Amino acid sequence: MAALGLPVPDGLILPADLVSEIATGAPVPDLGAFPGAPDILSIRSSPERSDWGGPTAILNIGLSDRETEKLAATIGAAPALDLYRRFIQSFGTGVAGLDPEDFENLYYDQLKLAGLDTHDGLDAGHLSDLVDASKDFYADEVGEPFPQDPHDQLRAAIRAMAEAWARPSARILRQARGADPEAGTALILQTMALGIGQGLSGSGLVQMVDADSGKAVVTGRFLPQSQGQDALMGVRTPHLITRASREAEGQSAPALEELAPDALTALQAADLKATEGLRDRFQFEFTLDRGQVWLLDAMPAKRSARGAVAIAVDLADRGIITREEAILRIDPRNLIQHLHPQIDPDARRDVFGTGLAASPGAATGRIVFSAEAALAMQAQGEAPILVRIETSPEDIRGMHAAVAVLTARGGMTSHAAVVARGLGLPCVVGASDIRLNLRKGVLTVADGRKFNEGAVVTIDGTRGEALMGAARMIQPELGGAYAKVMDWSDDIRTLGVRANADTPQDGRLARQFDVDGIGLCRTEHMFFEEDRIHVMRQMIMADDVDERRAALDRLQPIQRADFEELFAIMQGLPVVIRLLDPPLHEFLPHGHDEMQDLAEAMDLPVSQVTGRAEELREFNPMLGKRGVRLGITMPEIYEMQSRAIFEATLAVNRRADAPVVPEIMIPLVSAYREVEMIKSRIDAIAQEVQAQAGEALSYKLGVMVETPRAALRAGDLAASSAFLSFGTNDLTQMTYGLSRDDAGRFMRDYVNAGVFPEDPFHSLDVEGVGELLLLAANRGRAQNPDLVLGLCGEHGGDPASIRFCQVAGFDYVSCSPFRVPIARLAAAQATL
Ligand code: PEP
Ligand code: MG
Repeated sequence: MAALGLPVPDGLILPADLVSEIATGAPVPDLGAFPGAPDILSIRSSPERSDWGGPTAILNIGLSDRETEKLAATIGAAPALDLYRRFIQSFGTGVAGLDPEDFENLYYDQLKLAGLDTHDGLDAGHLSDLVDASKDFYADEVGEPFPQDPHDQLRAAIRAMAEAWARPSARILRQARGADPEAGTALILQTMALGIGQGLSGSGLVQMVDADSGKAVVTGRFLPQSQGQDALMGVRTPHLITRASREAEGQSAPALEELAPDALTALQAADLKATEGLRDRFQFEFTLDRGQVWLLDAMPAKRSARGAVAIAVDLADRGIITREEAILRIDPRNLIQHLHPQIDPDARRDVFGTGLAASPGAATGRIVFSAEAALAMQAQGEAPILVRIETSPEDIRGMHAAVAVLTARGGMTSHAAVVARGLGLPCVVGASDIRLNLRKGVLTVADGRKFNEGAVVTIDGTRGEALMGAARMIQPELGGAYAKVMDWSDDIRTLGVRANADTPQDGRLARQFDVDGIGLCRTEHMFFEEDRIHVMRQMIMADDVDERRAALDRLQPIQRADFEELFAIMQGLPVVIRLLDPPLHEFLPHGHDEMQDLAEAMDLPVSQVTGRAEELREFNPMLGKRGVRLGITMPEIYEMQSRAIFEATLAVNRRADAPVVPEIMIPLVSAYREVEMIKSRIDAIAQEVQAQAGEALSYKLGVMVETPRAALRAGDLAASSAFLSFGTNDLTQMTYGLSRDDAGRFMRDYVNAGVFPEDPFHSLDVEGVGELLLLAANRGRAQNPDLVLGLCGEHGGDPASIRFCQVAGFDYVSCSPFRVPIARLAAAQATL
């Protein structure tokens, strides 16, 4: 700051290594004459980062009986004595280790003796008595008189501060805040800017940028006749800085701007110089000494997540930092604040449930315990919050109607988490401290409170908390700084960012987030709408191939129409369509009434329907007949889907300028032969559709690498694949042998106990799953140099995992639409 020509009191710096030598017993070097006049100094610690803490500054060093008398001649007896008694207190506590409360008591005793309520009435006589009492107390406790030689005072203060920094308790404290255990602190010795004395003197704190909007707004306070942190202590009411803020707050005491307009001008000039010279925005501690402004400290300006984005963009717009630097300064997670409503950070929070922060944003609504109730409540114009033990595909429609979701079980890749993220709904999963009695419709929380359907709650999916009642919100904002960060990121990044989008609606949303394509369309989600699920169930219930084909024939036009719409929305951008993946049992109803409805619709006895459902039940469905295993054992399903894809392709190609090249993806592969068999059937269907239409089309076929065996055999798979896409949800599940739907029950305990550094379903396990990814990428590329590599598990929206993909040379990541902006920024950062 001094080098920039900012108004900083003269001083010198004791470097960190010297300070640590002093802490271990080295002598304090001879510092020569006191630098500057008056000969009163301060020492403050200066670690690499201000939030690591450090010993409290010691002010007014150099005051003694004689110096106080000299000072009295210039600033008056009372102010000089007040400074002296402050110094005795700060030296007594900071250097001699006395209890600050004892000094406070002396002070209040003196006030009482003088019959006063406030400091303002203390005159020189009272203060002189207080100085004597403080010195006597010091001498009694320490066993020697209060030191009168300024050099002795200074040496003792330096040693005390060096030792305080090295104390084990201080070390532990700063390590908890992320400091290196060996991190040191410099000490800054400076001439005191007194802040107490004649004319307009005092101290304050000021920030000239708004913490939330990044706009030029001056906030802060100023306390006349004060030093150090006084303005923040609340002993007396401080003045505000600008007239505008005083008027806004309805304060009658004049603002600093009105008391000393020049001081505000000087602070503004200093702020500009610091912004340009130190290339960031700051909050300043300042002192006014007889009208002259001195800066004592500059800390990075306070800023919210949104404020951080606005400040970085503003600095880049002003040419103070480069766009690349701005991009690197923004935590991608900060963008969440731009995309979803959030609870106002200052709002009161009555938390009744805590779980995993599965999908960000916050929403207030009324609780419901079933998908049907959610739909009914939505129909009444209310905002339902769906509370379930966990969700299943049956709940999808209820989730569409809901404004937020809370589940008692489940992990970061459980059904509720994945679907909510896709829909952009705030969601908390695995809130194991809530109890649900669905029959009675009661939610009981840890402290015994009970809620019935209709109770108003707020779900904070950003923090993973459920709150009582309605909380104050901040609304999303997609223009301005956010839009610039997105543009700059796109200019910089080389990694593609696609969206996981299952329906035309999702596709539209993805386009709004400027994706490079769709990296995963989970076709099963197209089957859950009311008119379709019936046909789907009939297909599943079919006794033989002919019956199954008849149901599939009815599904085919529906699928084709969906694909047509999706392709049209994506206007030639790549679209990866995954063939049917989940175990068929997931599509069947669970309740008795629904079974009955299904039996009626199919004109079958209920017993036959329930019997068939029972046959389909598996002990371990995630490892059972799903993915490509369905495609191999019931080939007509994938045939129907591929036909729908190809017909939709031709239909869109007839209308649009940009031809569609669909990318068909086979899920849950573990053997090369599976790919070979499916490929030959799909190729045959493609031939058939082209021959029927008399038109040509192109398509790509790829494999989803979701099993460890597929990763190991990636070389084989790549031989007949245009692309490999890593399904890291299943791959993580299978690599760890850890159920993605149940991990949430103990994941927090595991992470808290340090067993796992992080939830591997949230951030890619680079060491284990990551090794499989690298190995597969290398084997695949060695076999097929044109192989395109993507990742479409939930990790595709996680910045650390995105960095991994960049370093591994992948072509794209794919994630839920609402995480696309985070991925675009993280991909740019990974490039830099
Ligand atoms: C995966 O397993 O990573 C994946 C994307 O597929 P799903 O989540 O649908 O199983
Ligand atoms: Mg999967």
